[in-house]
Amino acid sequence: MIAGPSGPREQKGQPGLVSAALSGLCPRCGAKTLFSEPAALAEACGSCGLDFHALERGGRFVGVLTMLVALVLILAALGIDEWLRPPLWASFLFWAPVTVGSVLFALRFWKTMWVYHQYEESQP
Ligand SMILES: [Zn+2]
Repeated sequence: MIAGPSGPREQKGQPGLVSAALSGLCPRCGAKTLFSEPAALAEACGSCGLDFHALERGGRFVGVLTMLVALVLILAALGIDEWLRPPLWASFLFWAPVTVGSVLFALRFWKTMWVYHQYEESQP
């Protein structure tokens, strides 16, 4: 495989994006500086100074995404409730972490995808 200067745009599927979202890797230097909180972007990269907030212009979609994830989870919870009829405490024990985890991961993944996309667009 040839590693050209054209970057990840040439690659299909971008397998690195999931790990970049999980670890919060800076698109420019690869340091783990993208997130300052579990689902909040840092102001800028502490390692190379890349301005993340300037790249993040997808903020208005994030709320929609959160609602979609929550909606899917609520429907899934209702379906499982109908099917298994678990006790309430079991439902809560299961769905509380699943919901929080899914929303956090969806947010991280979305923001990482968006910042990487914007970063590539901003490259000459
Ligand atoms: Zn950086």
